[in-house]
Amino acid sequence: MRGMIDIGVNFHSSQLKGLAAELLSRAAAAGVTHILATGTSLSASELALSFARAHEPARPPGGRVPEGEARRLPDVRVWATAGTHPHDAKHWDAASIDQFEAMWADARVVAVGECGLDYYRMFSPREAQRVAFEAQIAAAVRTGKPLFLHCRDAFEDFEAMLRDAAKAGAHGVVHCFTDGAAEAEAYLALGFDIGITGWVTDAARGAALRDALRAIPADRLHLETDAPYLRPKNAGKTRHYNEPALLPFVAKAVAELKGLDVAALSAQATANSKRLFKLPD
Ligand SMILES: [Zn+2]
Repeated sequence: MRGMIDIGVNFHSSQLKGLAAELLSRAAAAGVTHILATGTSLSASELALSFARAHEPARPPGGRVPEGEARRLPDVRVWATAGTHPHDAKHWDAASIDQFEAMWADARVVAVGECGLDYYRMFSPREAQRVAFEAQIAAAVRTGKPLFLHCRDAFEDFEAMLRDAAKAGAHGVVHCFTDGAAEAEAYLALGFDIGITGWVTDAARGAALRDALRAIPADRLHLETDAPYLRPKNAGKTRHYNEPALLPFVAKAVAELKGLDVAALSAQATANSKRLFKLPD
């Protein structure tokens, strides 16, 4: 499979630190040609943007290909998201908008987030989470960029805020979706897409998600590893961490559950992600 897009990789995580070069070369070999580096805080977003800067095309489109260049492994193009995760919302303050504004204006930053609500871990108080999320929804509306969304154990509040966001013209993807069909249908009805990770390969923990996949049309889903987390269980014994090169295993599991050909499913997901994040061909 060529041209796959991994919409969520946490390069800032301690497990992936210093591994960017090998992760990208294995990703390229596995057919993953675009990666969105997830920004979960100011510093993680700056790191994501620096990866995006470092992996722009080496030559202008239509430029002459030097001798021998054609035999090189294909480049992986890296894009960034910039935002504050609910875990980090306690650090959101009056200065945060200005600090993120320049990043959101950068063409290499293709989404606002990761943002949303997480009442499971509660690393930040609810009110701080809501304030940070609200401000980032407004930024997405203002910049016209999609939201890269996170929700855990907060469906009621999250859906209410998304409802207002949709009315204001926001769009985006609920990344690492792990809930059931009812939640999926609610997000889809509001115009938001759904991101699927290796959670789908977990027969026990992923039962609700596997069922929900029936309700998610192929033209509304995106594939992601959320590396280094959630290593697909169908990938067999590899390294102890998840990585973008394992994205085809997520695609395989989704295709099987939806009764679709894996190549067709992957191509559809690529088209969906290119459309949502306005990535060039
Ligand atoms: Zn997340």
